[in-house]
Amino acid sequence: TQHLLARAKQHEALGAYLALDEEVSLAQARAADARIAAGERTPLLGVPIAHKDIFVTRDFPTTAGSKMLEGYRSPFDATVVARLGQQGAVTLGKLNCDEFAMGSGNDNSAFGPARNPWDPARVPGGSSGGSAAVVAARLAPAVTGTDTGGSIRQPAGFCGVTGIKPTYGRCSRYGMVAFASSLDQAGPMARSAADCATLLTAMAGPDIDRDSTSLDHPAEDYGRLLGKTWGEGRDGASAAQPLKGLRIGIPEEWMNWADDAPTTDQRVSGDVTLRVSGALKQLEALGASLRRIRLPRTEMSIPAYYIIAPAEASSNLSRYDGVKFGHRAAKYDDLLDMYKKSRSEAFGAEVQRRIMIGTYVLSHGYYDAYYLKAQQIRRLIAQDFRAAFAECDLIAGPVAPTVAWKIGELADDPVAAYLADIYTLPASLAGLPCMSVPAGLGATSGLPVGLQLVGDYLKEAELLQVAHALQ
Ligand code: GLN
Repeated sequence: TQHLLARAKQHEALGAYLALDEEVSLAQARAADARIAAGERTPLLGVPIAHKDIFVTRDFPTTAGSKMLEGYRSPFDATVVARLGQQGAVTLGKLNCDEFAMGSGNDNSAFGPARNPWDPARVPGGSSGGSAAVVAARLAPAVTGTDTGGSIRQPAGFCGVTGIKPTYGRCSRYGMVAFASSLDQAGPMARSAADCATLLTAMAGPDIDRDSTSLDHPAEDYGRLLGKTWGEGRDGASAAQPLKGLRIGIPEEWMNWADDAPTTDQRVSGDVTLRVSGALKQLEALGASLRRIRLPRTEMSIPAYYIIAPAEASSNLSRYDGVKFGHRAAKYDDLLDMYKKSRSEAFGAEVQRRIMIGTYVLSHGYYDAYYLKAQQIRRLIAQDFRAAFAECDLIAGPVAPTVAWKIGELADDPVAAYLADIYTLPASLAGLPCMSVPAGLGATSGLPVGLQLVGDYLKEAELLQVAHALQ
């Protein structure tokens, strides 16, 4: 803990931490030491980790990357934070993120950007940018993140680390500052699939009393399949070919995989095509079989998500009115003016944009045309996955169309950033477990490329098993 706190200070220029408190972290570390001295042995006892600043914490301030919550201190810990704490994990601090997790580059944070350790002129991805950056820069062995439409997978991909978003409902949303409640899901990011499994095992599990969408499914050991042969060797898997019998589907809308000559549509960069293909060939060498599948509504996931997520956000963010908590304008005429000024002053441009879009698509006369349509498309996308999983066990493809872009490059073009979410949004809309696994450095850019794996509902252990086989 001392070593990593010193490293955090050394690397302040990364902009990864929003809050550090040496006294609190060292007290937690001493408490873990006492438990170890008393003979306790659990995998996370004394392990220093850090939390995305979307999780509320009693011992550290919580901002969600927004001026609205500057100076806010939660009276309780998020369930995910509490569970990791009970397992003995030590909190190093709170990590930078896009304001209310809205963004893809961590450049929507009210407290300045986080930077990509591979090239500080570039974004670490978002919205869990600080999370990915500290793991990549070795400032923390593992961290928490949240993923609404790609916010764990895309930054993990951009920074060359491993991250998993479990099935919607696996991790409690209690104490996670809400963005789009039907999509928000917590997950770990770390250096390996094995470390992610250890964290997820501690984080996940039912919490029905506090989160009505929490899955009533017993706790699992997500690392139970690591190093095992696929299907327990039923299909001839062996030590040499541990993934024999595994059928991997490659959606032709994501990547064209035909006769060993992968091509992608123009939106995917050469670096991404080459490295993702390389990872797929590696999976083939491990025994997996690759096949083309279809996810025909991939393209529609963008408009559907960018209606549903802002709609839910506009509702969730209505609580920040400057009365109960959050920023309150210093000068105002009456109550309405106070609301207006407080919200205009404290919400950033992207958050205001989404509140306006969300309010519009939910308003009378537009609800049917936009919100309802988007929900119908969402259902169809989930059905497409259902059909796809009849033909394969797992889906693979790119995490994002490109490697990390330069900070500021997309600042004036929010739609370009939305379009880059094309490969992460489908699994989010369907609520499926999915992850990002490092696939190597781009030959041209020298920057990390991520391979995305998507599993059927509740198949986190299988996803981690396959990712582990690659590592
Ligand atoms: N980039 C997406 C957005 O801006 C996803 C963000 C997220 O998953 N929190 O909404």
